[in-house]
Amino acid sequence: MTGMTTITLVQGDITRQSADAIVNAANSSLLGGGGVDGAIHRRGGPAILEECRRLRASKYGKGLPTGQAVATTAGDLDARWVIHTVGPVHSTTEDRSALLASCYRESLRVADELGARTVAFPAISTGVYRWPMDDAARIAVETVRATDTAVEEVRFVLFDERAYHAFAAQLEDGS
Ligand code: ADP
Repeated sequence: MTGMTTITLVQGDITRQSADAIVNAANSSLLGGGGVDGAIHRRGGPAILEECRRLRASKYGKGLPTGQAVATTAGDLDARWVIHTVGPVHSTTEDRSALLASCYRESLRVADELGARTVAFPAISTGVYRWPMDDAARIAVETVRATDTAVEEVRFVLFDERAYHAFAAQLEDGS
């Protein structure tokens, strides 16, 4: 174990958070989208998209694969970095849980590389990608608890009350 990670919950807009790193529920194009992605680029300003375009022109010519994570500047956000990760689209015929878990694990690995101590996560895949909230909350909390990281605070930032309560129920279970 590298250290103890505290998990905290906040209901609100992730772009209003102050943290070392803010995680973006991106899509593989890295060129913006709706939901969290749109909000991060709107509030963070053009520097984030500029760096995403450079990533597309270099290491990620085909886009960022599902389950992986990469960092950029946080632009005008109150953070040092944005960590972009691509959640899986929920499927009723295929179990993609390992990919969703990978988003949390890989984001924390990138956070460790950067030296980030506080990391804010949205509920990845629960918007446009339709992952059921209770199951997404379970995977998020279990994965963070099982990941060896130097990150001191993992803060889940939940947009609405329903999401907040889904994550709170997971924290009460076995914390
Ligand atoms: P995905 O494509 O991974 O499903 P979305 O951005 O569509 O990502 O949604 C992920 C979750 O983030 C959803 O629960 C959505 O309600 C929530 N969300 C949307 N905007 C924000 C925001 N500004 N801050 C925090 N959470 C947000």
